[in-house]
Amino acid sequence: MNNYYRRTSCLICGSKDLYQFLDLGKTPLADSFLSKKELNKKELYFPLSIHVCENCNHIQILDAVHPRLLFPEEYALFSSGGPSMVKHFEDYAKEVHERFENIKNKFVIEIASNDGALLVPMKKLGFKVLGIEPTINTAKVARSRGIEVVTEFFSEPFSRKLASKYRQAGIVLANNVLAHTDNPTAFVKGVKNILDSNGVFVFEFQYGLELIKNTEFDNIYHEHSSFFTIRPLKLLMEKCGMRLFDIKPIATQGGSLRCYATHAENSFYKETTASAKMEKKEIREGMDKLKTYDDFGKRAVAIKVRLLDIILNIKKRGGRIVAYGAPAKGNTLLNFCGIGPKLIEYCIEKTKFKFNKFTPGMHIPVVSDDIIKKDGYPDFYLVLIWNYLDAIYAREKEYRKGGGKFIIPNPSPRII
Ligand SMILES: [Zn+2]
Repeated sequence: MNNYYRRTSCLICGSKDLYQFLDLGKTPLADSFLSKKELNKKELYFPLSIHVCENCNHIQILDAVHPRLLFPEEYALFSSGGPSMVKHFEDYAKEVHERFENIKNKFVIEIASNDGALLVPMKKLGFKVLGIEPTINTAKVARSRGIEVVTEFFSEPFSRKLASKYRQAGIVLANNVLAHTDNPTAFVKGVKNILDSNGVFVFEFQYGLELIKNTEFDNIYHEHSSFFTIRPLKLLMEKCGMRLFDIKPIATQGGSLRCYATHAENSFYKETTASAKMEKKEIREGMDKLKTYDDFGKRAVAIKVRLLDIILNIKKRGGRIVAYGAPAKGNTLLNFCGIGPKLIEYCIEKTKFKFNKFTPGMHIPVVSDDIIKKDGYPDFYLVLIWNYLDAIYAREKEYRKGGGKFIIPNPSPRII
């Protein structure tokens, strides 16, 4: 595979009837933060646009970038990094434990185990755990926390090797990775290979309905190949000899789903009414109509115009603006809107890996949030990690008391 290719058929059903509803232009990879030295080198830019399949309604990007470029050995995202994420994963582990307490096979494999955020609490609950993770630096952190990790991209051929080297798992976990793969069918078939006949597959992804409803266009970047809704997801599972038996909405990443699946031939787990209800809701929300997607595209452009207006007005009056967080999605927003270091002084971060780097494309410096002690509070924080707004709002009491304001880009730009 070259660095880049453009798909011409649907990731799920293979149809060629793909409808583009937003073009974000050529953008650098959202997680490719640059060192000072790298600023002088030519950055890699790739086309980025979002499509919906007219046949199965699967929301997807067609711009496929080589996985090693998307998930380099030194990766910028640490699962435990975001505020409240440690608790999120502890609760997640507890839920899986309680729900499948009687499962005999306690061997758990997590695909894309990152820094062990979920496997650490799973292990504490008595499971035998194994992580699969292609990025070296996050795997190293997981190992330092006592987790065995195989550093490899998950694929169907690899799944067969894995099943013979270890054994099949009673539980396979995969969070925010099915939607990142450029071959979901091979991925789920691979999961089937490593799952024992009574096993369950538990996975999460950003929910396509929330993306569209809340105009979360900044969540569109090359790592996110798919934004699943129920109908295409069911289709995918059926195609791979699996079946969904429950789905639960969760709050992470601007609205996600936690799904439970098993082998199609395993009748032990009865299907709840969740997926049928959600499918109906999707129809009510117009997810089967192209107009819904067109409207999303128009709203995204309106956000750009309004946000720039707010920021330029503040700058005209001499206000200082600092970005809160430097997440991957922030880079879609900044690049799409053309918001650079003339408007934003810097992004404050807690993830060490990003310190003293620059955002891809716009080249805004990323610094430790300790800098605020030295520089003092800005007049405005542009909240790029708006999915953590509640946590930020609570944490920044003092800033707010002093008259500090937040600019929130989604679902429509506003100052609070
Ligand atoms: Zn399709």
